[in-house]
Formats: sequence, structure tokens, C-alpha cells
Amino acid sequence: MRSKLLAAALLTVTGLPGSALAWGRTGHAVVADIARGYLTPKAAAAVDALLAADTDALTPSDLGARASWADAWRKDHRQTTEWHFVDVELDHPDLASACFGFPASATPASAGPEKDCVVGRLNAFEAELADPKTDPDERLLAFKFVLHLVGDLHQPLHAADNQDRGGNCVPLSLGGARTVNLHSYWDTIAVEAIEPDPTKLAAKLAADITPAQRKAWEKGDAKTWAMESFQIAKSSVYTIGSKPGCASDTAPIPLSAGYDQAAQAAVALQLKKAGVRLALELNRALG
Ligand SMILES: [Zn+2]
Repeated sequence: MRSKLLAAALLTVTGLPGSALAWGRTGHAVVADIARGYLTPKAAAAVDALLAADTDALTPSDLGARASWADAWRKDHRQTTEWHFVDVELDHPDLASACFGFPASATPASAGPEKDCVVGRLNAFEAELADPKTDPDERLLAFKFVLHLVGDLHQPLHAADNQDRGGNCVPLSLGGARTVNLHSYWDTIAVEAIEPDPTKLAAKLAADITPAQRKAWEKGDAKTWAMESFQIAKSSVYTIGSKPGCASDTAPIPLSAGYDQAAQAAVALQLKKAGVRLALELNRALG
């Protein structure tokens, strides 16, 4: 029943502009859950205090749900749409141009600029979160953006584009009448195929992270993490063989043998890295 409902929901959203702009709620909750396990006691207490102070009704108030708050907020704040991704083009990867030349942040960071990418916004909100002088309401908002954007940065299709709206206009066939767009497949299908329950999935993935991996993944910054996601899009996502662009008459592309398995492995790796790096950012800002 669950899979039928899921398929129906996905059929409904396929093709709607802006319908799929992030890991689904499962992926974001998993990233937050993994991160919680790596927080210092001081950062964990600060996170709990921020969650307790937040009365916003857009999402439930627990950490996993707050990790999807920025997607809910975007619906009535369309000027924040570009902040969730960076469209590095497959055929001429140029992070600076995809990030609008890395514009200076407004003060407060929630004021923009509208034309900024996930890399620039993550850095701006992290700086606000780290500064105890930030206005308390703005600091709550910065916290929720950091929670969310570290996750988004690790979804390969949030760091790559083939002139296809980050895969949103590439239809896939999942067998029978089931179709989904490439972006939604990576947001949700490949995540929930590993394990649909976010708490169980986070525990499963966290159990696999070795101290050496954690140390290696803590290197770099938002720019290098974005280009890592881009490379995964190139080496894994786009092996689907779609053409650049958004032709409306494209027939749904069937998945090749092994695509599901490779996608799930890439997703598992990216969720683990995102969890470790979210903890790194929160420990830096609050620990
Ligand atoms: Zn998002």
C-alpha cells in the first residue's frame, strides 16, 4: 500500500515546476539524526535550546523535522528558491558562475541576496549561527537553514545541471506505468529503497562510518563539498544517458541494470558525509 501511495504521489508531482528541490523529508531527517550523534555536549545543549525556543508551526519541532523547514518556508518565500542548490553545468563546470560570482551577503543573511547559491548561503547562515550577537529570531532561522542546506549540498542533483533543471525534467520509467523524474528519484526513491524509516536508516548508516572516514570527510569546505557532489552527478546520476535540455516529448528512460544499486550506494555515502559535516558545522558554531 505504501509503495502504491508513494508512486501515486510521485506521479502527481512529476513535472510540476519547483516540485522537487531537495532530499525528501526522509533524507534530511537522516542527515540531522546522524549529525546529532557527533555533537559535542555543548553543541548538543545549544541545539536543544534552539529547538525549544522555536515556536514556528511550519514543521514539527524535532530536529529531524526542522531539517526540512527551509523547504516548507520556501513556498511563501520564493526569493529563497535559489539558495537550495548550485547549478554547476555538466558541460562547462564553473562553480563561481553557478554561484552568481559569490555575492556578499546582506545583513541579516535572511534578507539575501536572492541570487545566491547553496554554498554562499550556507557560509552566511553559519556565520550568523556562530555569532551570539545575532538577533534571536534570525539565529533560529540561520540554524534551520544550516540544518537543511548541508543536506541539500550533498544531493548530487543540487550541485549539477544538464540544462534540465537539475534533472527535474528528465522522466524515468520505473517499470509498468510508474514514472518519476530524475531529481525525485535521487531525492526520495533511492533513499527510501535503502530503508524508508529515517531513524532506522540513520542508525544503519551511522554504524558504518569509521573514525578514519569521519576524519577524511571533515576536510574541505562548502565549495569542495559542492564539487564532490557534482562529480557524483557526473559519474553516477547522469549515466542514465539523458540528453541535455528539457524537451517536452522525451520518453521515460528505463533504468539500466545496476543503476538502482549504484544510486543507493552513492546516496548512502552522501547522507553519511552530510551527517558528519553537519555535525562539524554545528560544533564549530555552537560547540
Ligand atoms: Zn532544499
